[in-house]
Amino acid sequence: MSDGPAVQRSAFEGLLVPAAFEPMPKPGPNDWLANHPEKGQTFDDFVRSRPNKPDARHSTIYLQPLGTFDLGPLKEFTEAFFMMPVVVQPPLDLKSARITSRKNPYTGQQQLLTTDILTFLRRQLPPDAFCMLGITTIDLYPDPAWNFVFGQAALRDRVGVYSFARYGGDGTKMFFQRSCRVIAHETSHMFGIEHCVFYRCVLNGSNHLAESDARPMHLCPVDLRKLQWSVGFDAIERYRRLHAVCQRAGFNEEAGWYEREIRRCGKS
Ligand SMILES: [Zn+2]
Ligand SMILES: [Zn+2]
Repeated sequence: MSDGPAVQRSAFEGLLVPAAFEPMPKPGPNDWLANHPEKGQTFDDFVRSRPNKPDARHSTIYLQPLGTFDLGPLKEFTEAFFMMPVVVQPPLDLKSARITSRKNPYTGQQQLLTTDILTFLRRQLPPDAFCMLGITTIDLYPDPAWNFVFGQAALRDRVGVYSFARYGGDGTKMFFQRSCRVIAHETSHMFGIEHCVFYRCVLNGSNHLAESDARPMHLCPVDLRKLQWSVGFDAIERYRRLHAVCQRAGFNEEAGWYEREIRRCGKS
């Protein structure tokens, strides 16, 4: 950027002004916060937790599709969101990787065992990986006693697996929006960023699909500051890239939000 660091700094501070952010509404009886009381992680709590941080040797986010499906804007969205290189691995052949599967005893739907996938991802973690996320449109289960699970992570090992099987028709805008939102949320956990209770934010916990659909796709100022501390990007440049990606993907509400924020900081 041509602007000096002082200008960048003040624009970034502008983004941390909570004016444009909505406080968390009071949770309904079935919502996450009504069932999982969380006190919230401040920026200082976050730094004190000594979170995993990308560095010169661990600088890349890997996405490992399990099976073949259209990722839509997921790679470029993830790249813009974290301002880090994202590599999509060739789709995994489930048989040769020896991933256990079953037919769900109630629905007959095919499901993959998450613990096998996490073991595979741990073994395959490339040397330059900050983290690796398995993604699939096949349903998941964590243990034979369970019906299903949306995903599972081993944060210390920097691997996780997430299913989009319950997000509606593959290839629709709604499906891409949900998959981008879940990867932004889950990858943020890989950075040690916990659930957000301060504002409406992509890091809000969710108990059901209606609650997760109601979350915005962006970070609140508290969590933006955490991610910026971790990755060290230019926050305005990040907003510009996310604006462009959301516009191309047809995520109109999000594109409008980034546009307003960039304008508010006088940097458009
Ligand atoms: Zn979460
Ligand atoms: Zn937040």
